Amino acid sequence: MRHFFTLLAVAFVTAPAPGQSPAKPHLAAVDARIAAESPDLVKLYLHLHENPELSLFEVQSAARMAKELTAVGFAVTPDFGGHGVVGLFANGPGPTIMVRADMDALPVTEQTGVPYASKVRTRDRSGNDTGVMHACGHDVHMTCFVGTARVLVALKDKWSGTLMFVAQPAEEVGMGAKAMLDAGLFTKFKKPDYGVALHCEARLPVGQVAYSEGLALANVDTVDVTIKGKGGHGAAPHTTVDPIVLAAKIILDLQTIASREVNPTDPVVVTVGSIHGGTKHNIIPNEVKLQLTVRSTKDGVRDQVLKAIDRKCKAAALGANAPEPEVRVRLEEYTPSTINDVPLTRRLTGVFRDFLGDANVIERAPILGGEDFGRFGREGVPICMYFLGTIAPDKYAAAQRPGAGTLPSMHADSFAPLPGPSIAVGVKTLSAAVLELLGKK
Ligand SMILES: [Zn+2]
Ligand SMILES: [Zn+2]
Repeated sequence: MRHFFTLLAVAFVTAPAPGQSPAKPHLAAVDARIAAESPDLVKLYLHLHENPELSLFEVQSAARMAKELTAVGFAVTPDFGGHGVVGLFANGPGPTIMVRADMDALPVTEQTGVPYASKVRTRDRSGNDTGVMHACGHDVHMTCFVGTARVLVALKDKWSGTLMFVAQPAEEVGMGAKAMLDAGLFTKFKKPDYGVALHCEARLPVGQVAYSEGLALANVDTVDVTIKGKGGHGAAPHTTVDPIVLAAKIILDLQTIASREVNPTDPVVVTVGSIHGGTKHNIIPNEVKLQLTVRSTKDGVRDQVLKAIDRKCKAAALGANAPEPEVRVRLEEYTPSTINDVPLTRRLTGVFRDFLGDANVIERAPILGGEDFGRFGREGVPICMYFLGTIAPDKYAAAQRPGAGTLPSMHADSFAPLPGPSIAVGVKTLSAAVLELLGKK
Protein backbone atom coordinates (compact mmCIF):
# COMPACT_ATOMS: atom_id res chain seq x y z
CA MET A 1 0.00 0.00 0.00
CA ARG A 2 2.70 2.38 1.05
CA HIS A 3 4.84 1.56 -1.97
CA PHE A 4 1.87 2.03 -4.26
CA PHE A 5 1.39 5.60 -3.05
CA THR A 6 5.11 6.32 -3.27
CA LEU A 7 5.09 5.23 -6.91
CA LEU A 8 2.08 7.42 -7.63
CA ALA A 9 3.76 10.38 -6.01
CA VAL A 10 6.95 9.84 -8.00
CA ALA A 11 4.93 9.78 -11.22
CA PHE A 12 3.11 12.99 -10.23
CA VAL A 13 6.19 15.08 -9.47
CA THR A 14 8.04 14.47 -12.68
CA ALA A 15 11.49 15.87 -12.12
CA PRO A 16 13.12 17.55 -15.10
CA ALA A 17 16.16 15.87 -16.62
CA PRO A 18 19.49 16.70 -14.92
CA GLY A 19 20.72 20.14 -15.90
CA GLN A 20 17.21 21.12 -17.02
CA SER A 21 16.03 22.84 -13.84
CA PRO A 22 13.36 25.37 -14.85
CA ALA A 23 14.44 27.63 -11.98
CA LYS A 24 18.21 27.68 -12.51
CA PRO A 25 18.30 30.02 -15.55
CA HIS A 26 16.48 32.67 -13.48
CA LEU A 27 18.92 32.79 -10.56
CA ALA A 28 20.47 36.11 -11.60
CA ALA A 29 17.06 37.71 -12.18
CA VAL A 30 15.84 36.54 -8.75
CA ASP A 31 18.97 37.91 -7.06
CA ALA A 32 18.56 41.25 -8.81
CA ARG A 33 14.90 41.58 -7.72
CA ILE A 34 15.80 40.65 -4.13
CA ALA A 35 18.56 43.28 -4.07
CA ALA A 36 16.06 45.89 -5.28
CA GLU A 37 13.35 44.89 -2.76
CA SER A 38 15.62 44.26 0.23
CA PRO A 39 15.57 47.71 1.93
CA ASP A 40 11.77 47.87 1.80
CA LEU A 41 11.40 44.28 2.98
CA VAL A 42 13.61 44.97 6.00
CA LYS A 43 11.38 47.96 6.81
CA LEU A 44 8.34 45.71 6.58
CA TYR A 45 10.04 43.19 8.88
CA LEU A 46 10.84 45.83 11.49
CA HIS A 47 7.22 47.03 11.42
CA LEU A 48 5.87 43.49 11.86
CA HIS A 49 8.41 42.73 14.59
CA GLU A 50 7.47 45.84 16.58
CA ASN A 51 3.74 45.12 16.22
CA PRO A 52 3.22 41.44 17.08
CA GLU A 53 -0.28 40.06 17.62
CA LEU A 54 -1.25 36.94 19.57
CA SER A 55 -2.94 33.94 17.95
CA LEU A 56 -6.54 34.69 16.86
CA PHE A 57 -5.88 38.47 17.11
CA GLU A 58 -3.85 38.93 13.89
CA VAL A 59 -6.01 41.84 12.65
CA GLN A 60 -3.30 44.32 11.62
CA SER A 61 -0.90 41.65 10.35
CA ALA A 62 -3.64 40.19 8.13
CA ALA A 63 -4.62 43.64 6.85
CA ARG A 64 -0.98 44.29 5.94
CA MET A 65 -0.63 40.96 4.11
CA ALA A 66 -3.87 41.67 2.17
CA LYS A 67 -2.61 45.15 1.29
CA GLU A 68 0.79 43.90 0.12
CA LEU A 69 -0.69 41.13 -2.07
CA THR A 70 -3.27 43.50 -3.54
CA ALA A 71 -0.53 46.01 -4.35
CA VAL A 72 1.23 43.52 -6.65
CA GLY A 73 -1.95 42.40 -8.39
CA PHE A 74 -3.24 39.40 -6.45
CA ALA A 75 -7.01 38.85 -6.13
CA VAL A 76 -7.32 38.90 -2.33
CA THR A 77 -9.96 37.38 -0.03
CA PRO A 78 -9.54 38.61 3.58
CA ASP A 79 -11.13 37.23 6.79
CA PHE A 80 -11.13 33.66 5.52
CA GLY A 81 -11.21 31.14 8.38
CA GLY A 82 -10.77 33.86 11.01
CA HIS A 83 -8.09 36.37 10.05
CA GLY A 84 -6.80 34.24 7.15
CA VAL A 85 -5.92 35.90 3.84
CA VAL A 86 -6.00 34.12 0.47
CA GLY A 87 -4.33 35.75 -2.56
CA LEU A 88 -4.56 34.33 -6.07
CA PHE A 89 -2.43 35.37 -9.03
CA ALA A 90 -3.33 33.59 -12.28
CA ASN A 91 -0.61 33.72 -14.92
CA GLY A 92 -1.51 31.30 -17.70
CA PRO A 93 -1.86 27.52 -17.79
CA GLY A 94 0.00 25.32 -15.32
CA PRO A 95 -0.17 23.99 -11.78
CA THR A 96 -1.37 25.94 -8.73
CA ILE A 97 1.27 26.42 -6.04
CA MET A 98 0.33 27.30 -2.47
CA VAL A 99 2.88 29.41 -0.58
CA ARG A 100 1.92 29.70 3.06
CA ALA A 101 3.06 32.02 5.86
CA ASP A 102 1.75 32.15 9.42
CA MET A 103 1.13 35.46 11.20
CA ASP A 104 0.74 34.99 14.95
CA ALA A 105 3.18 35.91 17.73
CA LEU A 106 3.65 34.48 21.24
CA PRO A 107 2.97 35.58 24.83
CA VAL A 108 6.69 36.17 25.46
CA THR A 109 8.33 39.35 26.78
CA GLU A 110 11.21 40.13 24.43
CA GLN A 111 14.70 40.23 25.97
CA THR A 112 16.85 40.40 22.83
CA GLY A 113 17.99 43.98 23.44
CA VAL A 114 17.69 44.83 19.74
CA PRO A 115 16.62 48.46 19.09
CA TYR A 116 13.43 47.29 17.38
CA ALA A 117 12.41 44.92 20.22
CA SER A 118 8.68 44.57 20.77
CA LYS A 119 7.27 46.61 23.66
CA VAL A 120 3.74 45.32 23.16
CA ARG A 121 1.89 44.04 26.20
CA THR A 122 -1.53 42.45 26.39
CA ARG A 123 -3.60 39.89 28.28
CA ASP A 124 -3.27 36.27 27.25
CA ARG A 125 -6.17 33.85 26.96
CA SER A 126 -6.05 33.18 30.71
CA GLY A 127 -6.25 36.92 31.47
CA ASN A 128 -2.60 37.24 32.56
CA ASP A 129 -0.64 40.37 31.59
CA THR A 130 2.15 39.41 29.18
CA GLY A 131 4.55 40.79 26.65
CA VAL A 132 4.02 39.82 23.01
CA MET A 133 6.89 38.82 20.75
CA HIS A 134 7.49 37.23 17.37
CA ALA A 135 9.60 34.59 19.14
CA CYS A 136 8.80 32.00 16.46
CA GLY A 137 9.90 34.21 13.57
CA HIS A 138 6.50 34.48 11.90
CA ASP A 139 7.43 38.10 11.12
CA VAL A 140 10.29 36.70 8.98
CA HIS A 141 7.82 34.29 7.36
CA MET A 142 5.39 37.10 6.48
CA THR A 143 8.20 39.25 5.08
CA CYS A 144 9.56 36.40 2.94
CA PHE A 145 6.00 35.74 1.73
CA VAL A 146 5.56 39.36 0.60
CA GLY A 147 9.05 39.44 -0.93
CA THR A 148 8.38 36.23 -2.87
CA ALA A 149 5.06 37.60 -4.20
CA ARG A 150 6.90 40.73 -5.40
CA VAL A 151 9.73 38.78 -7.04
CA LEU A 152 7.42 36.31 -8.80
CA VAL A 153 5.10 39.02 -10.12
CA ALA A 154 8.09 41.01 -11.38
CA LEU A 155 9.35 37.85 -13.16
CA LYS A 156 5.95 36.72 -14.42
CA ASP A 157 7.15 36.33 -18.01
CA LYS A 158 9.42 33.52 -16.78
CA TRP A 159 6.71 31.20 -15.41
CA SER A 160 3.19 30.02 -16.10
CA GLY A 161 0.55 28.81 -13.62
CA THR A 162 -1.30 30.10 -10.57
CA LEU A 163 0.03 31.37 -7.25
CA MET A 164 -2.11 30.74 -4.18
CA PHE A 165 -0.62 32.79 -1.34
CA VAL A 166 -2.11 31.89 2.04
CA ALA A 167 -1.45 34.03 5.14
CA GLN A 168 -2.59 31.86 8.01
CA PRO A 169 -3.62 32.89 11.53
CA ALA A 170 -3.41 30.96 14.81
CA GLU A 171 -0.59 28.55 14.02
CA GLU A 172 0.75 28.61 17.58
CA VAL A 173 -2.55 27.30 18.95
CA GLY A 174 -2.94 24.73 16.18
CA MET A 175 -6.22 26.21 14.97
CA GLY A 176 -5.48 28.35 11.92
CA ALA A 177 -4.90 25.78 9.16
CA LYS A 178 -7.95 23.82 10.31
CA ALA A 179 -10.11 26.97 10.39
CA MET A 180 -9.07 27.88 6.83
CA LEU A 181 -9.66 24.32 5.58
CA ASP A 182 -13.04 24.16 7.37
CA ALA A 183 -13.98 27.48 5.71
CA GLY A 184 -13.37 25.84 2.31
CA LEU A 185 -9.80 26.80 1.38
CA PHE A 186 -9.50 23.84 -1.00
CA THR A 187 -13.12 23.84 -2.23
CA LYS A 188 -14.07 27.52 -2.58
CA PHE A 189 -10.63 28.12 -4.08
CA LYS A 190 -8.71 25.48 -6.00
CA LYS A 191 -6.95 22.64 -4.23
CA PRO A 192 -3.31 23.41 -5.00
CA ASP A 193 -1.04 20.94 -6.79
CA TYR A 194 1.77 21.61 -4.30
CA GLY A 195 2.25 23.48 -1.02
CA VAL A 196 5.47 25.14 0.13
CA ALA A 197 6.40 26.94 3.36
CA LEU A 198 9.51 27.84 5.27
CA HIS A 199 10.10 28.12 9.00
CA CYS A 200 12.82 30.02 10.83
CA GLU A 201 15.48 27.93 12.52
CA ALA A 202 17.22 29.30 15.60
CA ARG A 203 20.19 26.94 15.48
CA LEU A 204 21.26 27.36 11.89
CA PRO A 205 23.39 30.21 10.49
CA VAL A 206 22.08 32.63 7.89
CA GLY A 207 22.77 31.32 4.40
CA GLN A 208 21.81 27.73 5.16
CA VAL A 209 18.54 25.83 4.94
CA ALA A 210 17.68 22.44 6.47
CA TYR A 211 15.06 19.87 5.57
CA SER A 212 13.78 16.38 6.27
CA GLU A 213 12.30 14.01 3.72
CA GLY A 214 9.07 12.41 4.90
CA LEU A 215 8.41 13.06 8.60
CA ALA A 216 9.60 16.58 9.43
CA LEU A 217 7.66 17.63 12.54
CA ALA A 218 5.73 15.85 15.28
CA ASN A 219 2.13 15.36 16.40
CA VAL A 220 1.36 18.02 19.01
CA ASP A 221 -1.22 17.67 21.77
CA THR A 222 -2.12 20.17 24.45
CA VAL A 223 -3.42 18.86 27.77
CA ASP A 224 -4.89 20.69 30.78
CA VAL A 225 -4.80 18.94 34.15
CA THR A 226 -6.65 20.24 37.20
CA ILE A 227 -5.44 18.46 40.34
CA LYS A 228 -7.96 18.63 43.13
CA GLY A 229 -7.26 18.49 46.87
CA LYS A 230 -8.77 19.83 50.05
CA GLY A 231 -7.40 23.16 51.20
CA GLY A 232 -6.53 24.24 54.73
CA HIS A 233 -3.87 25.63 57.08
CA GLY A 234 -0.25 25.10 56.09
CA ALA A 235 0.51 24.05 59.68
CA ALA A 236 -2.21 21.39 59.70
CA PRO A 237 -1.54 19.26 56.62
CA HIS A 238 -3.27 16.26 58.24
CA THR A 239 -6.60 18.10 57.90
CA THR A 240 -6.08 18.63 54.15
CA VAL A 241 -5.35 16.81 50.90
CA ASP A 242 -2.41 18.79 49.55
CA PRO A 243 -2.70 19.22 45.76
CA ILE A 244 0.79 20.77 45.55
CA VAL A 245 2.53 17.63 46.82
CA LEU A 246 0.25 15.59 44.56
CA ALA A 247 1.17 17.82 41.57
CA ALA A 248 4.88 17.26 42.28
CA LYS A 249 4.32 13.49 42.25
CA ILE A 250 2.26 13.62 39.05
CA ILE A 251 4.91 15.71 37.24
CA LEU A 252 7.56 13.12 38.04
CA ASP A 253 5.24 10.19 37.20
CA LEU A 254 4.61 11.73 33.78
CA GLN A 255 8.33 11.56 33.02
CA THR A 256 8.20 7.76 33.17
CA ILE A 257 5.84 7.54 30.18
CA ALA A 258 8.58 8.25 27.64
CA SER A 259 11.32 6.50 29.63
CA ARG A 260 9.47 3.35 30.81
CA GLU A 261 6.28 2.78 28.81
CA VAL A 262 6.87 3.73 25.18
CA ASN A 263 9.21 1.81 22.90
CA PRO A 264 12.50 3.75 23.19
CA THR A 265 12.86 3.86 19.41
CA ASP A 266 9.69 5.99 19.23
CA PRO A 267 10.44 9.58 20.25
CA VAL A 268 8.02 11.11 22.76
CA VAL A 269 8.04 14.31 24.82
CA VAL A 270 5.80 15.07 27.79
CA THR A 271 6.57 18.58 29.03
CA VAL A 272 4.77 20.35 31.87
CA GLY A 273 5.14 23.93 30.71
CA SER A 274 3.03 25.61 33.35
CA ILE A 275 2.03 24.95 36.97
CA HIS A 276 -0.21 27.23 38.98
CA GLY A 277 -1.55 26.77 42.48
CA GLY A 278 -1.83 28.49 45.82
CA THR A 279 -1.85 32.08 47.05
CA LYS A 280 0.28 32.25 50.21
CA HIS A 281 3.02 30.50 52.20
CA ASN A 282 0.79 29.07 54.89
CA ILE A 283 -2.31 28.09 52.95
CA ILE A 284 -2.73 24.70 51.32
CA PRO A 285 -4.87 25.40 48.22
CA ASN A 286 -7.82 23.47 46.86
CA GLU A 287 -6.34 22.84 43.44
CA VAL A 288 -3.31 23.07 41.16
CA LYS A 289 -3.44 23.48 37.39
CA LEU A 290 -0.89 22.00 34.97
CA GLN A 291 -0.49 22.70 31.25
CA LEU A 292 1.26 20.05 29.16
CA THR A 293 2.57 19.78 25.65
CA VAL A 294 2.86 16.26 24.30
CA ARG A 295 4.83 15.26 21.18
CA SER A 296 4.88 12.01 19.24
CA THR A 297 5.62 10.91 15.71
CA LYS A 298 3.20 7.97 15.27
CA ASP A 299 -0.55 8.13 15.69
CA GLY A 300 -0.61 4.85 17.68
CA VAL A 301 2.04 6.14 20.09
CA ARG A 302 0.06 9.36 20.47
CA ASP A 303 -2.98 7.36 21.70
CA GLN A 304 -0.78 5.36 24.07
CA VAL A 305 0.77 8.49 25.62
CA LEU A 306 -2.50 10.38 26.06
CA LYS A 307 -4.06 7.35 27.78
CA ALA A 308 -1.01 7.01 30.04
CA ILE A 309 -1.23 10.67 31.11
CA ASP A 310 -4.87 10.22 32.08
CA ARG A 311 -4.12 7.00 33.96
CA LYS A 312 -1.11 8.35 35.87
CA CYS A 313 -2.93 11.49 37.01
CA LYS A 314 -5.91 9.52 38.23
CA ALA A 315 -3.78 6.81 39.87
CA ALA A 316 -1.69 9.34 41.79
CA ALA A 317 -4.86 11.08 43.01
CA LEU A 318 -6.26 7.76 44.18
CA GLY A 319 -3.04 7.10 46.08
CA ALA A 320 -3.30 10.50 47.79
CA ASN A 321 -6.98 10.00 48.63
CA ALA A 322 -7.74 13.08 46.54
CA PRO A 323 -10.76 13.69 44.31
CA GLU A 324 -10.35 12.52 40.72
CA PRO A 325 -8.39 15.13 38.71
CA GLU A 326 -9.72 16.60 35.47
CA VAL A 327 -7.53 15.67 32.50
CA ARG A 328 -8.61 17.46 29.33
CA VAL A 329 -6.93 16.92 25.97
CA ARG A 330 -7.61 20.07 23.94
CA LEU A 331 -8.52 18.28 20.73
CA GLU A 332 -9.34 21.62 19.08
CA GLU A 333 -5.62 22.47 19.37
CA TYR A 334 -4.26 19.15 18.09
CA THR A 335 -1.66 19.56 15.36
CA PRO A 336 -0.92 16.49 13.25
CA SER A 337 2.65 15.70 12.24
CA THR A 338 4.10 17.40 9.15
CA ILE A 339 5.12 14.88 6.53
CA ASN A 340 7.10 16.26 3.60
CA ASP A 341 6.32 14.70 0.25
CA VAL A 342 9.57 12.93 -0.65
CA PRO A 343 9.70 13.52 -4.44
CA LEU A 344 8.69 17.18 -4.05
CA THR A 345 11.23 17.72 -1.26
CA ARG A 346 14.01 16.13 -3.35
CA ARG A 347 13.14 18.32 -6.30
CA LEU A 348 13.00 21.56 -4.30
CA THR A 349 16.11 20.90 -2.27
CA GLY A 350 17.87 20.07 -5.55
CA VAL A 351 17.17 23.58 -6.81
CA PHE A 352 18.11 25.04 -3.40
CA ARG A 353 21.53 23.43 -3.91
CA ASP A 354 21.77 25.20 -7.27
CA PHE A 355 20.81 28.53 -5.67
CA LEU A 356 22.69 28.34 -2.35
CA GLY A 357 25.48 25.82 -2.93
CA ASP A 358 25.58 22.18 -1.79
CA ALA A 359 27.17 22.91 1.59
CA ASN A 360 24.30 25.23 2.55
CA VAL A 361 21.44 22.73 2.10
CA ILE A 362 21.41 20.30 4.99
CA GLU A 363 19.36 17.16 5.40
CA ARG A 364 18.55 16.41 9.02
CA ALA A 365 16.47 14.14 11.23
CA PRO A 366 12.88 15.15 12.07
CA ILE A 367 12.35 17.39 15.10
CA LEU A 368 9.59 17.24 17.70
CA GLY A 369 8.38 20.76 17.07
CA GLY A 370 4.91 20.99 15.57
CA GLU A 371 3.38 23.02 12.75
CA ASP A 372 -0.17 22.93 11.49
CA PHE A 373 1.13 23.28 7.91
CA GLY A 374 1.02 19.46 8.10
CA ARG A 375 -2.79 19.64 7.87
CA PHE A 376 -2.58 20.77 4.24
CA GLY A 377 -0.55 17.65 3.49
CA ARG A 378 -3.14 15.45 5.18
CA GLU A 379 -5.67 16.83 2.63
CA GLY A 380 -3.67 15.10 -0.11
CA VAL A 381 -1.56 18.07 -1.25
CA PRO A 382 2.15 17.20 -1.66
CA ILE A 383 3.86 19.61 0.74
CA CYS A 384 7.36 20.68 1.66
CA MET A 385 8.31 22.73 4.71
CA TYR A 386 11.98 23.59 5.07
CA PHE A 387 13.95 25.50 7.68
CA LEU A 388 15.67 28.84 7.20
CA GLY A 389 18.91 29.66 8.99
CA THR A 390 18.57 33.00 10.79
CA ILE A 391 21.53 33.31 13.15
CA ALA A 392 24.33 35.81 12.50
CA PRO A 393 27.45 33.86 11.39
CA ASP A 394 29.69 35.28 14.17
CA LYS A 395 27.12 34.39 16.84
CA TYR A 396 26.75 30.93 15.35
CA ALA A 397 30.53 30.38 15.21
CA ALA A 398 30.93 31.52 18.84
CA ALA A 399 28.29 29.03 19.96
CA GLN A 400 30.21 26.15 18.34
CA ARG A 401 33.26 26.70 20.59
CA PRO A 402 33.66 24.19 23.45
CA GLY A 403 31.85 25.33 26.61
CA ALA A 404 30.04 28.15 24.81
CA GLY A 405 26.59 26.84 25.73
CA THR A 406 23.73 26.40 23.31
CA LEU A 407 22.02 28.99 21.15
CA PRO A 408 18.52 29.98 22.29
CA SER A 409 15.78 27.88 20.71
CA MET A 410 12.66 29.09 18.93
CA HIS A 411 10.14 30.61 21.39
CA ALA A 412 13.01 31.90 23.57
CA ASP A 413 12.77 35.55 24.65
CA SER A 414 16.32 35.99 23.28
CA PHE A 415 15.70 34.57 19.77
CA ALA A 416 17.06 37.28 17.46
CA PRO A 417 17.19 36.47 13.74
CA LEU A 418 19.45 38.59 11.53
CA PRO A 419 16.78 40.26 9.40
CA GLY A 420 18.26 41.35 6.05
CA PRO A 421 20.25 38.25 5.03
CA SER A 422 17.67 35.82 6.50
CA ILE A 423 14.90 37.45 4.49
CA ALA A 424 17.03 37.45 1.32
CA VAL A 425 17.66 33.69 1.58
CA GLY A 426 14.00 33.05 2.47
CA VAL A 427 12.75 34.97 -0.59
CA LYS A 428 15.40 33.37 -2.79
CA THR A 429 14.48 29.80 -1.80
CA LEU A 430 10.69 30.32 -1.92
CA SER A 431 11.03 31.98 -5.34
CA ALA A 432 13.31 29.15 -6.51
CA ALA A 433 10.75 26.57 -5.31
CA VAL A 434 7.91 28.19 -7.28
CA LEU A 435 10.05 28.74 -10.38
CA GLU A 436 11.13 25.11 -10.23
CA LEU A 437 7.47 24.02 -10.32
CA LEU A 438 6.12 26.69 -12.74
CA GLY A 439 9.15 28.02 -14.62
CA LYS A 440 9.24 28.13 -18.40
CA LYS A 441 12.15 26.24 -19.86
ZN1 LIG B 1 6.18 28.49 17.29
ZN1 LIG C 1 6.31 28.92 14.14
